[in-house]
Amino acid sequence: MNQVFIGIGSNKNHPYFRIYSVLKQINRIKSTRIVKKSSLYETKPLGPQSQPNFINAVIEIKTNLNPHELLDELQVLEKQHNRKRTKKWGPRSIDLDILIYNRITMESRDLIIPHPGLEYREFVLIPLYEITNYGYEIPKYGKVSNLIKNL
Ligand code: AMP
Repeated sequence: MNQVFIGIGSNKNHPYFRIYSVLKQINRIKSTRIVKKSSLYETKPLGPQSQPNFINAVIEIKTNLNPHELLDELQVLEKQHNRKRTKKWGPRSIDLDILIYNRITMESRDLIIPHPGLEYREFVLIPLYEITNYGYEIPKYGKVSNLIKNL
């Protein structure tokens, strides 16, 4: 099975409840199961500050889906939670990002892996550090511990 890390964020419509419910939904995706969950972290929003803080987490899953199949499944869940389209950097009921997929690096029109920007985002690196072994290296970017030191 493939090892994938997913970033989860929410700052609207009861974030703790949203994250709890989306975790259950992720476990119900075919050929997919959650193997590790980070703590929940409260973080300041990127972009406009006139919105609630985010609750963020990172999970590790095992899946037989390929990257695009997984993206499709996650987008179905995002759509269920985010009924209204909102602006970039605006409040989100649920944001799901494929952070890392095995040791893959890829850039297609709709999917970039590792997820762009993860190398300088505290709300990704800290939870990732929590659930990976010391010395874990992100493809292309290197050790999580070094990236955190550079923040
Ligand atoms: P956002 O909701 O702002 O995170 O952006 C969603 C868009 O990012 C979607 O249309 C995806 O096709 C695209 N995207 C590119 N790379 C990724 C990735 N690694 N994980 C999730 N979405 C991605």
